[in-house]
Amino acid sequence: MKPMEATQKFITRFAPSPNGWLHLGHAYSALTAARAAQQAGGRFLLRIEDIDIGRARPHFVEGIHQDLEWLGLEWPAPVMVQSTRFDAYQSALDKLRDEGLVYPCWATRREILAAIEDKTKRGEDWPRDPDGAPLYPGLYRHLPETNRKKLMWEGGAFCWRLDMAKALALIDTPLTYTEHGAGHAETLPLDPAAFGDVVLARKDVPTSYHLAVVVDDAAQGVTQVTRGQDLKAATAVHAVLQKLLDLPQPDYLHHALVRDTSGRRLSKQAGDNGFRELRQQGMRLEEVLALLPPPFGDN
Ligand code: GLU
Repeated sequence: MKPMEATQKFITRFAPSPNGWLHLGHAYSALTAARAAQQAGGRFLLRIEDIDIGRARPHFVEGIHQDLEWLGLEWPAPVMVQSTRFDAYQSALDKLRDEGLVYPCWATRREILAAIEDKTKRGEDWPRDPDGAPLYPGLYRHLPETNRKKLMWEGGAFCWRLDMAKALALIDTPLTYTEHGAGHAETLPLDPAAFGDVVLARKDVPTSYHLAVVVDDAAQGVTQVTRGQDLKAATAVHAVLQKLLDLPQPDYLHHALVRDTSGRRLSKQAGDNGFRELRQQGMRLEEVLALLPPPFGDN
């Protein structure tokens, strides 16, 4: 065992976004993280990821606490709340900006789509990122400084994007990470270029999921990020940011997603309120657990 592993305490977390009630997939995720912490004699943390201030609601935060307590989970206080940490995200962004690794982008969704349509009309097949979104076509990436200044003065809304090519030229590649999702540790390759120039600070919020999650996992000393398979590919972006910001790279456990009986993945958007409703209907904990995949249930 390396000395680091001997002394470093295992810390994992459940990091829900309070923009809906938790469904059974969240219950599975939280239980998986808490179980990993218990098995390693480490800590399980809760973090509220409410940077999406337009959608986050206090009653959903309340609901998260109540639902997790009902599952029998415990976590230390105070709970980290992302909406109180915009200064920390700003400092990280400033560092990247000082190094010329991010650039302001004024493009609207419509402009981006038009640029892509224009290129695809000319017969170019347009690539998509691993989440299925069309890759950002690079508008505003190489804007001359004078034009940038002019646009700043005009005061239009802009986001900050990572110049992925510049970033990758600066760090040692290829990147890899340690994945525990298969029940054992394996080293897997990462492909950040597939995401292109990701947004690190949105037009409406001075950070983004990618930036906040990396800053906070490091700030909380998380040694294993536990989350669903749907975020596995994004680990590539997170690894780049960890390198650029000089933050340690945690291990990861990407667990299977809970599906309904038709095989559809549960989601808040689709109105899968699941687990809160079930318990309000009087279902007992054992019955709710039985609905989950192993090792909690048999589904
Ligand atoms: N806040 C994210 C969500 O609710 C999870 C982020 C993560 O675990 O990295 O989907």
